[in-house]
Amino acid sequence: MDSQSRTVPDLDLSVVIPIYNEVENVAELHSRLRTVLDELGLSYEIIAVDDGSTDGTGKLLRSLVAEDPHLKVVRFRRNFGQTAGFAAGFDLARGQTVITIDADLQNDPADIPLLLDKMAEGYDVVSGWRLHRQDPFITRKLPSMIANRLISWVTGVHLHDYGCSLKAYDWYVVKNVRLYGELHRFIPALASYMGVRVAEIPVRHYPRQRGKSKYGISRTLRVILDLLTVRFLLSYSARPMQLFGLLGLGAFGGGFIIAAYLSVVKLVLKRSIGDRPLLLLAILLIMVGIQLLTMGLLGELVVRTYHETQDKTIYVIREIIEAPQSHKEG
Ligand code: UDP
Ligand code: MG
Repeated sequence: MDSQSRTVPDLDLSVVIPIYNEVENVAELHSRLRTVLDELGLSYEIIAVDDGSTDGTGKLLRSLVAEDPHLKVVRFRRNFGQTAGFAAGFDLARGQTVITIDADLQNDPADIPLLLDKMAEGYDVVSGWRLHRQDPFITRKLPSMIANRLISWVTGVHLHDYGCSLKAYDWYVVKNVRLYGELHRFIPALASYMGVRVAEIPVRHYPRQRGKSKYGISRTLRVILDLLTVRFLLSYSARPMQLFGLLGLGAFGGGFIIAAYLSVVKLVLKRSIGDRPLLLLAILLIMVGIQLLTMGLLGELVVRTYHETQDKTIYVIREIIEAPQSHKEG
C-alpha cells in the first residue's frame, strides 16, 4: 500500500481551494467559508493553494492567515494549473473528509454541509452537480454536456457533472489517487479502481461576478485526450501486454497470412509479386505487429517498475476481518 496511507487524519475536515488570480474574490470566499465551517462544530482547516497568482492574491492570503488559525496557504513558485493545486492540497490535507471548491464564488460554501451529510451515508466520494449551471451555453455548457456523457460512458462511473469542483472525498481517496496533467475532473473515475462508493448531489452555481475565467473551449479537446489516458489506466495499466499484444498479434497474423499467400503465388504459380500493393501491406502489418508486441513487453516492464518502486499493490483492501484472538506469529 502507499506509504501515505499508513498515517491517519487528525482533523474532521480539510477544504482545498486552488486559487489563480482571484484577488477580488478571496476575502469574501474566506469569510463565507468561515461562517459555514464554524457552524458545523467540526475541527477543520482551509488549505488555500495560490497557484502562482500575479495580482496580489498571495499578499491578501498572507494577511488572512494572520487572523485565522484554520487557514493554511501554500504558494506555488509559478502557475502549475488547477490540478496541481488540488494535488498539493491533497498531499497536505489532514482531514478525514476533504472538500474541494473553486475560489471564484461560482460554488456556494453553504453547500458543504449537504456534501458532508451525503458522505455520512457511507460514500467515499460525493460530487456536486451544477443543475443550473451559470456559464455561457455554446462555449462552456454544450461542450461540457457532451464531455460528461462521453466520460460517463467510457469510464463507467456515472456522474452528470465531472467538471464541478465542489466535491467531497474521503481521506483515503485523496491520499491514494495520483494526479497528473489536468486529470482532476477524473478523480472519481481514477478512484473507481479502488472500489469507491460515489454519489452525486445537486449544488448551487452562480455566474462569475469578479475576475476572469481561466479556461476556454480548447479545454474540451484536452479532456478527450485525457479520457483516453484514464480509460487505458483503468483497464490495462496492470496488463499492457493484453492490449498491445492483442493488436500486435492481429497485425502480425494478418501480415503473415498475406505474405504466405504471396509466397504461394510466387513459388507455386511462378508469378511476379513485386508490383503488388498487397506485398507492401504484408510488410507493413508484420512490422507494426512486431512493434506492438515489443511495446506490450516494454509496457509490462514499466508496470513492474511502477508498482515496485512505489510499493504499490495491484489490489486495494477495504478491511480485513478476523477473529479477535486469532494466533499471530512473531
Ligand atoms: N485555477 C487555478 N489555476 C489555474 C487556473 C484556475 O488554481 O491555472 C483556479 C481558479 O482560481 C478557480 C478554479 O481554479 O478557483 C476554477 O477556475 P475558473 O473559474 O477559471 O474555471 P471555470 O469556472 O471557468 O471552469
Ligand atoms: Mg469558475
